[in-house]
Amino acid sequence: MFEQFIKKYNLPKYRRVQLYTQYYKNLISSWDNLSTWPLQLREALKKEIPFSNLTFVSSTQTKEKDSIKVLFKTPKNNYIESVLIRERDRNTVCVSCMSGCPVRCIFCASGQMGLQESLTSYQIVDQVLYFARYLKESNERVSNIVYMGMGEPLLNLESVSRSIIDITDIDKFGISKRRVTLSTSGYVQQLRSFMDMRLGVKLAISLHSPNQKLRDFLMPTVSKENSLIDLFEVLDQYTKEKNKRVTYEYVLLRGINDSIEHAKELATLLKNRLALVNLINYNENECLPFKKSKNTPLFKRILEERGITCTIRKSLGEDIKGACGQLSGTHQDC
Ligand code: SF4
Repeated sequence: MFEQFIKKYNLPKYRRVQLYTQYYKNLISSWDNLSTWPLQLREALKKEIPFSNLTFVSSTQTKEKDSIKVLFKTPKNNYIESVLIRERDRNTVCVSCMSGCPVRCIFCASGQMGLQESLTSYQIVDQVLYFARYLKESNERVSNIVYMGMGEPLLNLESVSRSIIDITDIDKFGISKRRVTLSTSGYVQQLRSFMDMRLGVKLAISLHSPNQKLRDFLMPTVSKENSLIDLFEVLDQYTKEKNKRVTYEYVLLRGINDSIEHAKELATLLKNRLALVNLINYNENECLPFKKSKNTPLFKRILEERGITCTIRKSLGEDIKGACGQLSGTHQDC
């Protein structure tokens, strides 16, 4: 987008530097604020490139003001949601890469929408910049970015990888690669392509089940064609090549995947693997029949007793439906 414009107008290098500095680092709020460019050039930019590729629709805050969920509309009139999670030591932006999701995991609100639209890299970056501008008002910064909103990142890999390159480019947004996490439900072939790209960001796997049968039930679309055996083959290669730990997301659903046996089975599956388990308390949703587990501390203890590093993800944004598996576009009914 910007490169084409720069080429079209045959702009010298310093104009690109000015544009990127103002847009990605100084976080201007409209093209009118691009004061380092002459008026005529700014007007041409205004005509040819929208300042944002998403339209703000509404925002909701938690009572504690520690999470903000924003609903955006795309030019194709689809809705997406993004969340800012504010903690003492970090401000994490959770971005969507699709409107809806084709993977249709049965416990996930985004999955119930099916795929509406895959986002462009600009639309993904727009979500980050929106919150960066918001935080700038209180002299704060975006410190972490997670691809854990609506959509399966590996099924929109071209846009997702492009957006990662843009947000980690030191001449652009410049966030450290170590502070970016891509979360996938486990598409094996695409995971290999992602690894080959060597983007340097962290990897999280939405596991949610310690065995194939249960995964087939909870995540049928991905599980059918991407067995746990194949998935772990590629993940073992990943940890061996990169010596990097993989985070396993495990949402605890009462009576479904949260028993003592499930915990033991998970510990066996991850034994001798470089792994961190992130236990997630399910946020109940009136559209779905699942309930929050009462076994979270016990589940954690069983894993830890067996040497598995484990954290319970702080449940943020429950009252705004901004937590895992609950991004669905608030305009929609069940
Ligand atoms: S859990 Fe992730 S992959 Fe599964 S339907 Fe929801 S957004 Fe898609």
